[in-house]
Amino acid sequence: MDENIIERVRKKLTGDRGGITRDEAMELAVCRIDGLPEIMLLSNSVTSRYHERGVYLCGITSARTGACPEDCSFCAQSVYSEHPVPPSTRIEPRKILESARRAEAGGASEFCIVMSGRGPGERTLEKVIESVRLIKTHTGLSVGCSLGILTEDQAPLLSEAGVSRYNHNLETSRGYYPRICTTHAYDDRIATARLVKKNGIRLCCGGILGLGESAEDRISLAYELRELEPEVVPLNFLNPRPGTRLGGMHALHPLEALRYISIFRLILPESILLCAGGREAVLGEYQPWALFAGANALIAGDYLTTKGSPPGDDIDLMRDLELPILRYT
Ligand code: SF4
Repeated sequence: MDENIIERVRKKLTGDRGGITRDEAMELAVCRIDGLPEIMLLSNSVTSRYHERGVYLCGITSARTGACPEDCSFCAQSVYSEHPVPPSTRIEPRKILESARRAEAGGASEFCIVMSGRGPGERTLEKVIESVRLIKTHTGLSVGCSLGILTEDQAPLLSEAGVSRYNHNLETSRGYYPRICTTHAYDDRIATARLVKKNGIRLCCGGILGLGESAEDRISLAYELRELEPEVVPLNFLNPRPGTRLGGMHALHPLEALRYISIFRLILPESILLCAGGREAVLGEYQPWALFAGANALIAGDYLTTKGSPPGDDIDLMRDLELPILRYT
C-alpha cells in the first residue's frame, strides 16, 4: 500500500501531471515511516525542477517584544502566558540597522523586522518605515516586515517605503485555528495576506507544526497556503515554551518534521520553503536533511525569543553540503 502511493506520486511527477491531490498528500502523511527516504527523493526532485540549486538565508530581529494582547497558545510574547517574555516595546531604528548589518555579514540577503502585537499603530509604523529606509540606505539587504494585521491604509505605506516581503502566517488549518487563537480570526489573517499582495508586496506566509493538530490539519494548512500563492512559506516547529498553554506539548519527532517538509514541498512546488523557528530544537542533527527534503531557505541567527544557530554555522553547513547561498531579489 505504502509503495503504491509513492509509486503513484512518482509516476505523476515524472509525467508532469500537476501537483499532488489532497488524498495523495494524506496517504503520504500516514504511510509507514520507512517510506520517508523515497518521499524525500520525490520532494527533492520537485525542488530541483522548480528552483535554483542553493539556499536563501534570512535574518530577523524583534523590533518590539512581548506585551502582546493576543492569545496565541504557543507564544511566550502573549500576556496570557504564565511566564511572558520581558517586554521591550520601544522601536529603535539605529539598533534595528545594527542587527541588519550583522545579518548581512552572516550571509543573509533578506532581513525581516518583526513585532509582537495585533498590528502596528500610527507612530509604530512610522518608526518601522524609518528603520526600513535606514536598512535600504546602508545595506544591500532586501527588507521584509512582520507586524501583524494591517489596515487598508497601512499596506501602501510599507510598499512605498520599499518593503519587499510581508510575513503573516496562517499558523494552522482553518478548522484547528480556534484551538490556537481566539482574539483574532483566521479570516483576519487571510485578509492581511491578500492585502499585502494587492499592494505589490511579496507574501511570506506559512505556519507552525506540532500544536496538537492532526495530519488532516497539516494537509489543510498546506492547501490553504496554496490558495494564497505565497512566494515564501515559513515552516515553524513548536519548541514548547514554559508558561504557554502548549508548554507541556511534546516536540514533533524529527522524522515527522522531515516528512511534512517533503509533503509541503510537493503541495507547494513553486514557493521558497523556509525552515524557520524550532529547526534546531526539533530537527537537531537531522537539520541538513531538511534541505534534502525540500526546504531551500533558513532563518539565519537567533529567533524572536529563542536562540538559533551560532553565526557562521549555517554557512559551514552550506559549504559542507556544497550548496550555494542564494540572494533574495
Ligand atoms: S504570535 Fe504574534 S499575535 Fe500571537 S501572541 Fe505572539 S506576538 Fe501576539
